[in-house]
Amino acid sequence: MTTTLFTSCDTAFEELSWRADGLCAQTDPDAFFPSQGESARDAKRICAGCGVRQRCLEYAIAKDERFGIWGGLSGRERRRISGGDRSPGGAATPR
Ligand code: SF4
Repeated sequence: MTTTLFTSCDTAFEELSWRADGLCAQTDPDAFFPSQGESARDAKRICAGCGVRQRCLEYAIAKDERFGIWGGLSGRERRRISGGDRSPGGAATPR
């Protein structure tokens, strides 16, 4: 039973280990979770130069992260490229 617990923890740690290399780890985390109406431009600019951007984006899409800037994209932008946006005009809207 203990082995299973450690294996799960190890897997979770490995799954998130890339985050230590993210540029956001060195900046204000609030910039990546702007309030409604606030600009996400600064966070997106930081993401553009981040070495783990692709991995971050893939993680956020796989985990269906709804909020915040991940991999340089907002939640709505991520849903749009992953096909999960069911809003009018979204990628999953029947044409
Ligand atoms: S891509 Fe952006 S949110 Fe993701 S780790 Fe890099 S700086 Fe952070």
